[in-house]
Amino acid sequence: MNNNVDAIIIGAGVIGACTAYELTKLGYRTLSVDKLPQAGYGSTSGSCAIIRTYYSTIESCALAYEGWHHWKSWAKYLGNMVSGADLVEYHNTGCLVAKTTLNNHLQKVCAVMDKLGCPYEHVSNDEINRYLPGVDKRLYYPAKTIDDDAFGKPTGGELSGSVFFPNGGYVSDPMQSAVNVQVAAESLGAIFKFNSTITRIVIKQDRVAGVELSDGSVVSAPVVINVGGPHSSVINKMAGVSDNMLMSTRALRHEVAHVDAPESFNNVKRIITSDSDVQVYTRPSSANGKGFLIGSEDPQCDVREWVDDPDRFNADFSAQWKTLVMRLAQRIPDLSIPDTARGVVALYDVTEDWMPIYDKSDLPGFFMACGTSGNQYKNAPVAGKIMAKLVQTTDAGHDHDSEPVQFHLENIDFTVSLDAYSRNRTINEDSSFSVIG
Ligand SMILES: Cc1cc2nc3c(=O)[nH]c(=O)nc-3n(C[C@H](O)[C@H](O)[C@H](O)COP(=O)(O)OP(=O)(O)OC[C@H]3O[C@@H](n4cnc5c(N)ncnc54)[C@H](O)[C@@H]3O)c2cc1C
Repeated sequence: MNNNVDAIIIGAGVIGACTAYELTKLGYRTLSVDKLPQAGYGSTSGSCAIIRTYYSTIESCALAYEGWHHWKSWAKYLGNMVSGADLVEYHNTGCLVAKTTLNNHLQKVCAVMDKLGCPYEHVSNDEINRYLPGVDKRLYYPAKTIDDDAFGKPTGGELSGSVFFPNGGYVSDPMQSAVNVQVAAESLGAIFKFNSTITRIVIKQDRVAGVELSDGSVVSAPVVINVGGPHSSVINKMAGVSDNMLMSTRALRHEVAHVDAPESFNNVKRIITSDSDVQVYTRPSSANGKGFLIGSEDPQCDVREWVDDPDRFNADFSAQWKTLVMRLAQRIPDLSIPDTARGVVALYDVTEDWMPIYDKSDLPGFFMACGTSGNQYKNAPVAGKIMAKLVQTTDAGHDHDSEPVQFHLENIDFTVSLDAYSRNRTINEDSSFSVIG
């Protein structure tokens, strides 16, 4: 193996691959190591790959809007180094978000969109049928578990309309998107090594010096970046940096249900939906729109299934699956509840405030892009650029902790102070504390 690299990236998920690609563009010789057999095989493969611009904070909305520009021009982002059938498709369906008391009727989100110049339009209750035929507009909040006698009983009143965000959609194949980035990075000289587990972070003279692999071999490098997804806390512990961080990361088990859409949806333009009244989000299952992917918006009543060992978790569907389908059926009464569960069981990597950590650490040369909290697939190209800039400025002697790096988002002409993603930030109370971020 090439033992002469400038940076080792732990993980070749979509964010790890983008980090390798962006560092390579800056001239770094990178080695990406992943214990799985191909890029994107980890939590990226389970992603719903929804691209949306609405979050709870301006920094998050800005990153997401910048990210949307890259998905929209995916071949260009890849430097036109991938083409034809290998390229994933981005379907710009738009996203319909219900106005509810939980999201303050989207007033704050719309004000942020105005600041960022990100388009949206208000949709009245009468117009919702255009997107969701036969929709039940009654309120059901708060969400309940299906064994609660009050489940499915309206709680009074109706939705106060919705907002449609035209710049949003989903990517056809999240795993393949990571492969696309790997190919682009390799064409610039990046090296990827699969089926290889990192078991130790090598530290010499109080700074990172490389990694040790499970076969006992050591690869030296002055920079190591933890992009281990749900394994990020294990890797931070290996590096001995966890105890000096205010934020932490934890793996959280989540299910996504795949179901057929009712026939009434056959001739309807299929979109992404987010409904914090019944507390589920949906996306069309495929380009021809024959079904729904249904995910949870993490209501208070649901017990959170934290996972201590990300290599060992229950990969079978549980009551969570049926709960998701029945929650959506409150809004779409024609939805059938299948007998057989289909979908995904996977792990998020969650921080205290459900915002990611894109940062250096107290161990010189050791960086992390983690805590992506079920909502950072869309930001992978931007996260890759952020990590490359953090490594480059730190190499140049800059101390990001005392003077946070300012990161300019070129497509939307907006600058974000990267202390928003610090490992030592205080909990961002503006967060939704859910996958919405
Ligand atoms: C069910 C689900 C739905 C989601 N839906 C969306 C969505 O709709 N929109 C959105 O924006 N985001 C979504 N997300 C979040 C998004 O998918 C993730 O934030 C993103 O894929 C994380 O990418 P990553 O590269 O950081 O991690 P991963 O894809 O998990 O990659 C980490 C890699 O590190 C490797 N690794 C770990 N430890 C080691 C080690 N010791 N040695 C070698 N390799 C190691 C693993 O094998 C893995 O391949 C969802 C996530 C899930 C789970």
